[in-house]
Amino acid sequence: MRALFWKAIRTRPAGDAMSQGYFGAFGGAFIPEILHQTFAELTAAYEAARADADFWSEYLTVMENYSGRPTPLTYAENLSAAFGGRRIYIKREDLNQTGAHKANNVMGQGLLVKRMGKSRVIAETGAGQHGVATATMAARLGLECTIYMGAKDVARQRPNVFWMEQLGATVIPVTSGDQTLKDAVNEAMRDWVGSMDGTHYVLGTACGAHPFPEMVSWFQSVIGSEARGQILKQAGRLPDRVYACVGGGSNAMGIFQGFLDAPDVELIGVEAGGLGLATGLHAARLASADAEVGIAQGYKTYFLQDDDGQMKTTHSVAAGLDYVGVSPILANLHETGRARFIAATDAEVVEALKRLMKAEGIIGALESSHAVAGALRELPDTPEDTVILINLSGRGDKDIFTIADALHDPKWEAFIQEKADQYAKRANNPGDAS
Ligand SMILES: *Cc1c(COP(=O)(O)O)cnc(C)c1O
Repeated sequence: MRALFWKAIRTRPAGDAMSQGYFGAFGGAFIPEILHQTFAELTAAYEAARADADFWSEYLTVMENYSGRPTPLTYAENLSAAFGGRRIYIKREDLNQTGAHKANNVMGQGLLVKRMGKSRVIAETGAGQHGVATATMAARLGLECTIYMGAKDVARQRPNVFWMEQLGATVIPVTSGDQTLKDAVNEAMRDWVGSMDGTHYVLGTACGAHPFPEMVSWFQSVIGSEARGQILKQAGRLPDRVYACVGGGSNAMGIFQGFLDAPDVELIGVEAGGLGLATGLHAARLASADAEVGIAQGYKTYFLQDDDGQMKTTHSVAAGLDYVGVSPILANLHETGRARFIAATDAEVVEALKRLMKAEGIIGALESSHAVAGALRELPDTPEDTVILINLSGRGDKDIFTIADALHDPKWEAFIQEKADQYAKRANNPGDAS
């Protein structure tokens, strides 16, 4: 199944290693000269691992024993009943180690790092979720770990910074530029240029220069292959539609790969509609007309950029979807019409999160709730015997600060205020331990 898929979507113009990694017109490897050798070595290590069945079984065993794979497929019984016979199945990536599908990618890359004989990993992180996942993997595999994070994000995302440091990672606040994700990426690249012999850069999603989009998608394909078997068993047939949220595109690529060779299964990516597509305050690259094809951050895809090629400011209630580019593989699936892309607004997403919690007792991440929102919006217009599959990429309880903010819960705000008062009191009376 996997082999078929790659043959269908991967185009490899003849030529040197750097012409690899195109998906239709998208992808490629636009990297500084000094990193060519490192990327060539990484590509070779990835290709060798991919050709080695033992590597994949080692990966599956680690994911089984460390991250609870296979994750369950849950039939959403109460929600389904509310949609008159239509059946909703939820793939539970929220039950992974560190609470999201990100575990699949970081652990895969970690095992590859061991194979390459490197001893240090670096990563960029925006909201901090990829940083926490990478720090967790590094602790488990005994690797040194440095995380680059914009200084503004360090201030905003203290809980994730706290965990990265507790897990043993060094978090470096980046004070250049806007002090956010793209500046963190630049700093991580600078580190790599000086440290590439012993260091691997763990990219967090199915973006960037070849081989990252393809390699990250490969590790995430475990989601789709499990889900296909599970839904065949539980529903007795393939789903009519598969929904996934799209930030960089790794969880969507993960689940879509299980169904790409089945043309009757519709694949739908749900992007961050933010305050609404008409407001310009969103992160919809494929579902809006606001993005242009361009080359940045090592690859060619749709970017939210202005006429001068400056990246636009994106907005989403979900920090993990707030990215200017998108996987070149998804860009190609969009271009060929194999996948369809829609956007869900912040308001719809908060409603969907509440609805899933109350109906099924499942607390989805704000990111994942985009997939739920998109699916529930479209479900009434489908035939009554429709079967849908939603990828729940992560859990929301770890994001209590963000979600409580989004839900405007006054009791939560009072609790935080009380904590702040307590800390202020303690700072003023250092001897007072209360
Ligand atoms: C990071 C994240 C995403 C977005 O990343 P993709 O690469 O698009 O999957 C989605 N959901 C959760 C829970 C995340 O943590």
